[in-house]
Amino acid sequence: MTEYDVAVIGSGPGGYVAAIRCAQLGMKTAIIEKYSTLGGTCLNVGCIPSKAMLDSSHHYEDAVKHFQEHGIDIPGEIKVNLKQMITRKQGVVDMTTKGIQFLMDKNKIDVYEGVGSFKDATHIDIAKSDGKNETILAKNTIIATGSKPSTLPFITLDKERVITSTEALELKEIPKHMIVIGGGVIGLELGQVYKRLGSEVSVIEYMDRIIPTMDAGLSKELMKAMKKQKVKFNLSHKVKSVERKGKEVIVKADDKKGNEVTFTGDYCLVSVGRRPYTDGLNVEAAGVQMDDRGKIAVNDHLQTNVPNIYAIGDVIRGAMLAHKAEEEGTMVAEILAGQKPHIDYNLIPGVVYTWPEVAAVGKTEEQLKEAGIAYKVGQFPMRALGRARASMDVDGFVKILADASTDEVLGVHMIGARCADLISEGVTAMEFRASAEDIARMSHAHPTYSEAVKEAALAATDDRALHV
Ligand SMILES: Cc1cc2nc3c(=O)[nH]c(=O)nc-3n(C[C@H](O)[C@H](O)[C@H](O)COP(=O)(O)OP(=O)(O)OC[C@H]3O[C@@H](n4cnc5c(N)ncnc54)[C@H](O)[C@@H]3O)c2cc1C
Repeated sequence: MTEYDVAVIGSGPGGYVAAIRCAQLGMKTAIIEKYSTLGGTCLNVGCIPSKAMLDSSHHYEDAVKHFQEHGIDIPGEIKVNLKQMITRKQGVVDMTTKGIQFLMDKNKIDVYEGVGSFKDATHIDIAKSDGKNETILAKNTIIATGSKPSTLPFITLDKERVITSTEALELKEIPKHMIVIGGGVIGLELGQVYKRLGSEVSVIEYMDRIIPTMDAGLSKELMKAMKKQKVKFNLSHKVKSVERKGKEVIVKADDKKGNEVTFTGDYCLVSVGRRPYTDGLNVEAAGVQMDDRGKIAVNDHLQTNVPNIYAIGDVIRGAMLAHKAEEEGTMVAEILAGQKPHIDYNLIPGVVYTWPEVAAVGKTEEQLKEAGIAYKVGQFPMRALGRARASMDVDGFVKILADASTDEVLGVHMIGARCADLISEGVTAMEFRASAEDIARMSHAHPTYSEAVKEAALAATDDRALHV
């Protein structure tokens, strides 16, 4: 039986990063993945393919709506070739997952293709795809088995017309009317893809705003921008049935007043969140306990109740984000090597890759109010930037929240072009406990979108933004 210092179960961004860091630190490492490609949800059916589809559909929308204004005439009709769009997306996925295989080889990590399940706290059985079984001995195990799309109890996901994000990345036709249940990140990103490609898109959200965990100002601004793109929103609607009738999907919901509203479409994307995935893992055999939400319970060191078994990523508490999983993978590897790493969960940024992009780090206004912390607000509109006007992407703003007495930055919230990349300035500033004035006094290249961060910081410092 082969023995390892560490076995990692699951090869998503949590698992593969954990494996690389363990190998870098000199541990003999194995990674077990049930699918034939590495990279987990993120690389195969999550972050990467969704961004590939967002980018392709964005190019199409630009070509149809904006090229002429830029002085670019395209003779003839501009058409979507969905098959090619999906082929390109798959090419990006394939290249990226092969890259992970390369990194495993480079770091001398043994890759097992098969379903890993605990026999006990140190033995892991691998049911391989070729039908054979192998057991390995692992001094330590890191569970990184991720998550799967969740649904509502009364919905039957037929995966043809009542679909999850996974199928939405593989459609054979452009829906005429896509009903999106859930106004969170995944529903809005994929809803926007199909809206750009020509579908009618209706979002049904249970809460009274979209992206409900983010700052309310961002929810409002994103909804305004997406309404301009003709996405329809139905807030405070409680879906109560989803029925497939031939090529139609009929969704019934109760609105705020309790009146029944019926939506008829040809596809229904169910994007109501994701559930931790532990099927087939047999954690009971190792004695690992779960929390009351069905996630693997861990302490501050990401250790389960069984001392040599750790868990990271979507399968444990906290935001279901690839970069959060990666940080946790690194942290566990370093703990196993005797180091004392730390993650500041307050500084894990959240991003929505719609256009305009939405990004945030730190506390929202709602959280600061609830905690009774006195704060100042500095906000600056993108449309006041020369760069925004040059590229005709003028929607959105940057908002900086700073402590009323110390001026320390407590939250950075932004919506606009390139905010997914811009937010790292907020993360860096907060990591070094910068004040709003620190950001305001830093030179920001002109003309860039980053000037909005400086201006918002100036506004927060003592209401002295220069360009409004
Ligand atoms: C459409 C979509 C878009 C997204 N976009 C973003 C984004 O832009 N940014 C972002 O940060 N996050 C995004 N996410 C979320 C992100 O994908 C997850 O947070 C991330 O993949 C979690 O990583 P993980 O390592 O915990 O698990 P996963 O990536 O889910 O990987 C778990 C792996 O474990 C394997 N596995 C499970 N059980 C076993 C077993 N018993 N034996 C062997 N292998 C097993 C699975 O097959 C899988 O490959 C998106 C998700 C979706 C669905």
